[in-house]
Amino acid sequence: MVRAAVLPAVGSPLEIAEISLPEPGPGQVRVRLAAAGVCHSDLSLSNGTMRVPVPAVLGHEGAGTVVSVGEGVAHVAPGDGVVLNWAPSCGSCHACSIGEVWLCADALTGAGRVHAVTADGTELHPGLNVAAFAEETVVAANCVLPAPEGVSLTDAALLGCAVLTGYGAVHHSARVREGESVVVHGVGGVGLATLQAARIAGAATVIAVDVSPEKEELARRAGATEYVVASDTTAKEVRRLTGGRGADVAIECVGRATTIRTAWDSTRRGGRTTVVGIGGKDQQVTFNALELFHWGRTLSGCVYGNSDPERDLPVLATHIREGGLDLSALVTDRIGLEDIPAAFTAMREGRGGRSLVVF
Ligand SMILES: [Zn+2]
Ligand SMILES: [Zn+2]
Repeated sequence: MVRAAVLPAVGSPLEIAEISLPEPGPGQVRVRLAAAGVCHSDLSLSNGTMRVPVPAVLGHEGAGTVVSVGEGVAHVAPGDGVVLNWAPSCGSCHACSIGEVWLCADALTGAGRVHAVTADGTELHPGLNVAAFAEETVVAANCVLPAPEGVSLTDAALLGCAVLTGYGAVHHSARVREGESVVVHGVGGVGLATLQAARIAGAATVIAVDVSPEKEELARRAGATEYVVASDTTAKEVRRLTGGRGADVAIECVGRATTIRTAWDSTRRGGRTTVVGIGGKDQQVTFNALELFHWGRTLSGCVYGNSDPERDLPVLATHIREGGLDLSALVTDRIGLEDIPAAFTAMREGRGGRSLVVF
């Protein structure tokens, strides 16, 4: 038996429970977690904004050590450090065949399987495939990637969601070029990774926007050159900081209609806005036809940073070694499994950066 944070039903608080995992079957890997990040998507799964089969073990951003492998697993072996990848790709669907592996049609089919059972026999599903809020997990082999050398497994946990997403939003979706101005709306875990990625891309002006005035130091440490406390005049303030034009690129890390609209409004004519935040169906964003023409702007959605984890992890590792990416600067709280509900509350109230469960 291992300890895990279980979501019993949508809308219920997480419960700490002892769960029993099966031995890894063919094509599966058992991993002992070193650390797992608490992502806003876990909160969205717990409150029903995003849906997966329940009861489930949540947690989708983690790293650890391989305990054992099932038949046919060759790319990792017991004792290896691994990063969990919650969005594995099948390699054969249409999206995979054209190289857009982050849109794999089969990415979440694993979420329906039975992952573990509790002491009373209740069957649990694996949340977003990897069930990282537990001391150990059993996952499909394509959900583990070799951890980059020279990076502690505790730090490496964040690579699997926040960092791939933030880095990818800047490099793959918005394609920020050297000397451009970038505004990042929302300074949580992904927002901080996005700020660091903008710095790596050589952005000349990096503006962080958040409702909380308390995140300024955190944002500046991640690469922000300017800090704006969100208000009704945010877009105007961003224009003032960018020669009156607006930013070349806006990246929205909140997932609300008002911030998406503000992000779009804060770019120049011809500017690019990438939406990383995941909002609900009730968040309607409106544009009129004339302004779409006049401003000539682009608005893009972005899944998992449009990342190919297999290709991108080694690149991120290089940036870590060169000092451009500072993973420990993303973490504001190191917590235990039993503290995840409090971390959810902090996210709901917009406090802090990333909370990291350290096992
Ligand atoms: Zn996430
Ligand atoms: Zn696929």
